[in-house]
Amino acid sequence: MERLQKIIAKAGITSRRKAEKLIEDGRVEVNGKKVTELGAKANQQTDKIVVDGVPLENEEPVYYLLYKPAGVISSVSDEAGRKVVTDYITTEKRIYPVGRLDYDTSGAIILTNDGEFANQLMHPKYKVEKTYYAKVEGIPDKEAIKQLRRGIEIDGHKTSPAFAKVRQTNNRKGTSLVELVIHEGRNRQVRRMLEAVGHPVLKLRREQYGVVDLQGLNAGEYRELKPYEVKKLR
Ligand code: URA
Repeated sequence: MERLQKIIAKAGITSRRKAEKLIEDGRVEVNGKKVTELGAKANQQTDKIVVDGVPLENEEPVYYLLYKPAGVISSVSDEAGRKVVTDYITTEKRIYPVGRLDYDTSGAIILTNDGEFANQLMHPKYKVEKTYYAKVEGIPDKEAIKQLRRGIEIDGHKTSPAFAKVRQTNNRKGTSLVELVIHEGRNRQVRRMLEAVGHPVLKLRREQYGVVDLQGLNAGEYRELKPYEVKKLR
């Protein structure tokens, strides 16, 4: 037996908070009876749970890691008909991405139908570490790296301390590869941090998301997360 709002959130329909509102608004039925109290519990396997007249699918949760290519939207559909992350994964289940990567950023992104898991990971409290490799213009000096580590003012708020290191330099081209590890997820954060220290990003890839990385995957490929990986991410 589990709380009704948890079951609804896990089914991927909505967040736990919104599921509570659905219950309070009288839009949820269990075995043909309207349930409006938030403490109510149910058994997902044996009880018939209906939201807005539609039975909750007894969908098994699934978890995927996709190596998102650049030029793909982190969404389940796009009005302009551009490629979206779910185009790369073959499943009947209603999966969606956990957070987002910019259209022009490649790299590790998780997709799932487990709403609760997704909400947890996206909550700032969880501080999932994300490792980025950025090809930048120029070669950051010690001071620039120090600034990145200490935090950079973006929209009036300083970024949290980060790990930053120059991994490779190409003196002939005047570019370098910078590794940056952050746990926040502000809009275009890595690009803006590097721009702020005078090194605009030419290419950006997320190498690692929490305990999972891109090893063994090429751009456009995906794999299922292992149960221990799901557990460690939670
Ligand atoms: N930071 C960025 O600038 N872009 C991303 O896609 C992710 C982090």
